[in-house]
Order: sequence, then structure tokens, then C-alpha cells
Amino acid sequence: MYYGGIEAGGTKFVCAISNDKFEIIERVSIPTTTPNETISQVFNFFDQYQLKSIGIGSFGPIDVNKDSKTYGFITSTPKQGWQNYNFVGDIKKRYNVPVAWTTDVNAAAYGESKKGNAKSQKSCIYLTVGTGVGGGFVTNGDIIDGYGHPEMGHIILKIHDQDDFKGNCPYHSNCLEGLAAGPAIEKRNNKKGQDLGKDDKTWEFVSYYIAQALVNYTLTVRPEIIILGGGVMKQEHLLPLIREQFKALMNDYVETPDLESYIVSPGLGDNAGITGSLILAADKAE
Ligand code: ADP
Ligand code: ZN
Repeated sequence: MYYGGIEAGGTKFVCAISNDKFEIIERVSIPTTTPNETISQVFNFFDQYQLKSIGIGSFGPIDVNKDSKTYGFITSTPKQGWQNYNFVGDIKKRYNVPVAWTTDVNAAAYGESKKGNAKSQKSCIYLTVGTGVGGGFVTNGDIIDGYGHPEMGHIILKIHDQDDFKGNCPYHSNCLEGLAAGPAIEKRNNKKGQDLGKDDKTWEFVSYYIAQALVNYTLTVRPEIIILGGGVMKQEHLLPLIREQFKALMNDYVETPDLESYIVSPGLGDNAGITGSLILAADKAE
């Protein structure tokens, strides 16, 4: 018997099975197209195994309120075809095992807190900067949700005084996602982040916005560690720039751990989300 994990992203789904130690035995990557197409491939994968339980970390927004009629649904996503999709319902109908359900970033924060760079910390924030920006917060072993799950990517930020770009979030323009996600970087330059030079002015702006967000999260919940993942963070020179801007913006107002150990990359690399999903599956099976 295995644990099943799904990291459901806007670009691809990663499905995996693991043993009791959360070592990944098999994994597949499936393109995110329509729910019908994608889920039938998810079924093709898991149908091969005996499962104890399944954990899902999904792109969102999603409904995580257990009392809601649409619990387990992807809700108002801009992603075509996925609005009001009953994800947990479809998985349960097929497998009839316990299913854990949370956001992709909550799952990544959970994975990092159990097996990654936040293993020795009581609390951690995981922020992804990719196609979108999202964050999850784990403290004392619990994923923190409120009325819904956090939406840390959409906090409103002050525009850098040399930046002409107004942001591209259709809801708020100058939120973190609208200013610093991959598509915002592409829109301001007419080329993708991966094709920009290290010295491009964009990185000063992007690190300023991410640092502002991290100052806000720090002041709000005082986490012990902040982990930054996602495609944009593959730019290795960004992390030191973010720490520098964080220091300037925080201006020694509150104490944090040494910034080299406070603002870090994922210890599990690209496996943070899938590992968290597998551990959540195990929790649910108990
Ligand atoms: P997803 O958000 O679908 O999970 P990613 O986290 O890989 O996927 O994010 C994809 C975004 O990150 C794209 O907008 C892409 O341009 C950007 N990106 C990917 N790799 C890099 C890189 N090396 N440098 C800068 N931006 C990158
Ligand atoms: Zn926004």
C-alpha cells in the first residue's frame, strides 16, 4: 500500500506514490489541459497502485472550508475550464480513500516544515514566485487557514519610485503578483525572466517588491523562516538582493534570525509541494 500525492499546478500536475518514509517510488508529470483530459491521466497513474490515502496540493483559489457545499472545489480561477471543478469529489469517487486537500503552497510549506529547510523551526512561510505568487504558513505543525486560505501574493505594495510599470493583476494592479510574477516580468520587458541579464534593472524592482512583501509577512506573523520557491527564484542572484532590500526596508525595527538563514531556498528543491502532499496523505490516513 502506498500514499498518493498530487501537486496540481497551472502548467503541470505531478503525481507520485511513496512508502511510509515519504520516499517517492514512482512519479509522473501531466500537462494541465482540461479537467477531463488531465484527471483521466491522473487516474491512469494511480489505478496501477493500492492506495492508503491521497493528498492534494492544488493551484487556486480553492475551497478549503469543510462546512461549505463546494469544499474540495477549485473556485474562481482564471484558468479556462477549471472554474468550479469538484477536484476532491472526482478523486473520492474513483478511489474511496481519505483525501487531504489544501493549496499547492500550503503543501510546500508543510513539506518544508516536516522534511526540508524548516525542519527545526516552529513556523515557516513558503512563497512561490512563478506564473503567480502564493504563500502558505505553517506553525506548530498546522497549516493556517482562516475564512479561506491565505492569498499572500495579492498584498498591495508601494511602487518603486523609478518603476514605470503599473502592474498587471486584473484585480489590484500593484499587488505582489501583478508586479513580480513571471508574466509581469515578461510584460514589462517583452521577454521572459530567464532571458534577461543579471544586471537588468528589473531585478532591482522585483527584489524590492518581494522584500516589501517579506517585511509585511514578518511583521504580521513573525515566522522563524521564509522559504522562496518558484520559477522566478531560479535566478540565483535574486536571493541576496532580496535580503539586502529586506534589511533596508525593515530598518532594524524587529529582530529576525540572521538573514542568510531566514530568507532561503527550499531544502526539498522542486519536491517541496509533492512531498508535503504525500505527508498530508499520511496524516489523513491515520
Ligand atoms: P508554475 O507557476 O506553473 O508552477 P514556475 O514556478 O516554473 O511554474 O513559474 C513559471 C514562471 O517563472 C514563468 O513566468 C517563467 O517565465 C518564470 N521562470 C521560469 N524559470 C525562470 C528563470 N530561470 N528565471 C526567471 N524566470 C523564470
Ligand atoms: Zn492581485
